[in-house]
Amino acid sequence: MCVELPNHERPFPPAVGVMSLTFFQRVHTFCHSPAAIRRVAVRFSQPVAGIRWCSMSELSKCFYQVTAGRSCQDLCHPEYATCWQSFVGLTKTLLPGCYKLYLTLLVIPPLLKGGDYTKEYWKNHILGYASVSFKTYILAISGLTLQCLLYKLFGRLHYYCLMGVPGVLSAAIVPKLPRVHLRLQGITYFNMMLEVMIKKSEWRWLRTLRRSRLWATVAFMLFSARIMHLLRTATVNQFWIMYPATAKTERPADGCRHDGSCRAYVFDGVWKYALAGFTIETARALVSKGALMFGAPGRLWDELRHAIGPALPLFLGTYVGSYRSISCWLAHRTGRERPGHARLAGLLSGISYLIYPKYQIFTLAFTKFLEMSWEHYHNTAKRKPHWMVLLQRVPFLRLVHMLSIGYMYHALVFHSHHSPPFNSKCVNYCSDFRVERIKQRLVAWMLEHSWT
Ligand SMILES: [Zn+2]
Ligand SMILES: [Zn+2]
Repeated sequence: MCVELPNHERPFPPAVGVMSLTFFQRVHTFCHSPAAIRRVAVRFSQPVAGIRWCSMSELSKCFYQVTAGRSCQDLCHPEYATCWQSFVGLTKTLLPGCYKLYLTLLVIPPLLKGGDYTKEYWKNHILGYASVSFKTYILAISGLTLQCLLYKLFGRLHYYCLMGVPGVLSAAIVPKLPRVHLRLQGITYFNMMLEVMIKKSEWRWLRTLRRSRLWATVAFMLFSARIMHLLRTATVNQFWIMYPATAKTERPADGCRHDGSCRAYVFDGVWKYALAGFTIETARALVSKGALMFGAPGRLWDELRHAIGPALPLFLGTYVGSYRSISCWLAHRTGRERPGHARLAGLLSGISYLIYPKYQIFTLAFTKFLEMSWEHYHNTAKRKPHWMVLLQRVPFLRLVHMLSIGYMYHALVFHSHHSPPFNSKCVNYCSDFRVERIKQRLVAWMLEHSWT
């Protein structure tokens, strides 16, 4: 699901560009011969007249060369004679994939909740799942149908109108999602967009961050320090992995803000968070491997064992455990808990990132750092400047949702070697692998074009 932040800049064959390793594997289905693949790889590793695969603008030129004279039917739906038939086909086939995509959203929250299951809770939870899946189904149909409409509008296939623009427009016209789901989708896609941008960037400091686990950890520590400090000042109300202690009873005499003994407080955090990490890993593995139960039940156990990794539970347990231990130690050392302690404890506990150095965690911390800093400024500024009042009217969440969905759709086809696996899972589940087939056709055409 996630990709490691450091060591990601593996040298990519310079002339291959858009063609990731998976692309070469797919090309195999066209060539049916490893020798042919090798010939193609050798050919692509040499400069081919008119075809360079490195930058977006060059790829754009290449896109027009290979799609010249082709229609939306050739690229998007050769199995349907007309765009209308394609639309009808989509409405008939996409629904199950959208419900399948959100299975983890159906399974994980009740497991993490751990109690208080009322009838009302189940009703709202299941209706929420059904609603977000159905709206995603509409988003998928409209995105794929817009490819045809935009082709008809311009009379040719357009680089940005193949995936990016349909993505933005379909997110704009989808029925209004409840804020919680809009946030979930918007932030997930925004974080994936950041991931692709980091992987693509040529900026020297981002390249360093990408290669160095140490620098990525330092950045995470700084984000963590700021986030924990803002949560402690209680000027923001946002989700983060953990929260500073708040006493339910009168402040105890030993200086800490939590109830009960320090030892119980620390162990409670480690145990609960490690268990939550294990639950997430297990639920994720069950959802992705569960089908084996019917196909190959003998392999299920082995597959599950490999799919459930210890890194996430270990990271969560260590992050929370170290934060709580350091906070308690500082409170005892200085006689009472102070707001600045949250900053120092947040900074030091951020070292746990070394255990689970994933883009997903890194981009989440960065997004939360920005969001919380903005909310803090907004809530504490005594006189709000005019620009701030104007900015408040901008529906940021909706815009972020639209733009990042468009960006990630585009990245899936044109920068697939940078696109996180979760993105292809989302799009392929919801498009019944149509986008995957589009990508394969483009690659086949590019190979064909290079031979002529
Ligand atoms: Zn069409
Ligand atoms: Zn304590």
